[in-house]
Amino acid sequence: MGIGNRESGIGNRETGWGRGKREKGKGKRPSPTLPSFIQRETGIVNRRNPQLSSTDELGMQTALEEARNGSEVGEVPVGAAVIVDGKIISRAHNETISRNDLTQHAELIAIQSALKSLGTDRLENASLYITLEPCAQCAGAIVLARVGRVLFGAYDPKAGMAGSVEDLLRHSKLNHRPEVRGGVFETECGALLKVFFKGRRE
Ligand SMILES: [Zn+2]
Repeated sequence: MGIGNRESGIGNRETGWGRGKREKGKGKRPSPTLPSFIQRETGIVNRRNPQLSSTDELGMQTALEEARNGSEVGEVPVGAAVIVDGKIISRAHNETISRNDLTQHAELIAIQSALKSLGTDRLENASLYITLEPCAQCAGAIVLARVGRVLFGAYDPKAGMAGSVEDLLRHSKLNHRPEVRGGVFETECGALLKVFFKGRRE
């Protein structure tokens, strides 16, 4: 099976985004719009992130930038960043294709690289920003590395483990539960994936 095959591991992300259009108005989450005064003041049009701190905004924008970098080199556009004390410690995009390794997701690479550069085995004081809801592998890594906070953009109805399929990040039986916020810049994050998969289908 080729790397691009829809049934391969990449397909976890592909099936969520490359297949099956969600009907408008259907699905679990309601989608009221953000009041226009908040949109004007913050430049944010997503209802789920009306009060983002400047650090969180930096984190999400960095993750988005990484996702775009990834798509420029043919990777599935998912990006991630780790911030501690307002400083970007690491940033990464998916590298499943370039490394020919379906486990090389943006957030996993960002976590590993943050641990390395901080010389620690725990990221309790870190915030992790991801453009897409983490999968089971990455949610596991987030729990094991004790990441303090997780903010992500688009939901992944087919593979997301922060509430969509299951909630591993806030599982009552696990001994670490990060603070989680989803749907941050959801529209922008999701649009990158939509454009990418539309291009691949054509
Ligand atoms: Zn993952």
